[in-house]
Amino acid sequence: MATVLIDLDGTLIPLNAWRPVFAELCEEIAREAGVRPEDVWRRARQRNLEQMRALDWRAFDWQRIFTEVARELGLSRAPDVGEALQRHLHAFTLNEGAAEALARLREMGHRVEIATNGHAVYQLPVIRRLGLDRLVDGVRTSDMYQCPKTCPQYFENADAIVGDNPIFDVYFPRRFGLITVFYGEWERSSAVHGQRMAIDLTETVPHAVVKALREVPDAVERLLPRRSTARSL
Ligand SMILES: [Mg+2]
Repeated sequence: MATVLIDLDGTLIPLNAWRPVFAELCEEIAREAGVRPEDVWRRARQRNLEQMRALDWRAFDWQRIFTEVARELGLSRAPDVGEALQRHLHAFTLNEGAAEALARLREMGHRVEIATNGHAVYQLPVIRRLGLDRLVDGVRTSDMYQCPKTCPQYFENADAIVGDNPIFDVYFPRRFGLITVFYGEWERSSAVHGQRMAIDLTETVPHAVVKALREVPDAVERLLPRRSTARSL
């Protein structure tokens, strides 16, 4: 039995699921501050990226980020991110094959945990809404460890990780000895994210690349025994 981590945003659910939530927050701040919504988003995204490059788990504290942006624009407060999320939760969906992949991994006897950079206050309502809490054995969020998917304690006792982010789901977990299954197009994605995070990914490769979630259980199964063999030598 192995512990398999699986990413949430962009893997189990579409990457753009949060877009309407952010759009609503930006529109509300923009209206009150008399600026354009895209200016609000540019400021929020810039903060998020700066803190992500610093490997700071607060990069994913959207309430703090939007409050800072609102204050910068002369407002006393930002709208509540959790309340905005509640208004859009009904539209969140799973990616094709997500539930089946989780079920199959558990049938194989593995412990399956969701591993996300998002904070529990935002991710747990999404996980419950989609019924993912019944399909996994645990959830890891960056605020639990006070670090994103970049530090050894985040990956403790985990054997493999599946995800769509070349930095957080491949580069860092590989460093800490995990088997990495990348979901998506590696060449294109690693170029974009390497540049965005100023991390050289030219020497990094995932152990496997899958284009569909239904391929995940077999990919994990194929890779795991190899590592135990290598370890016992
Ligand atoms: Mg992701």
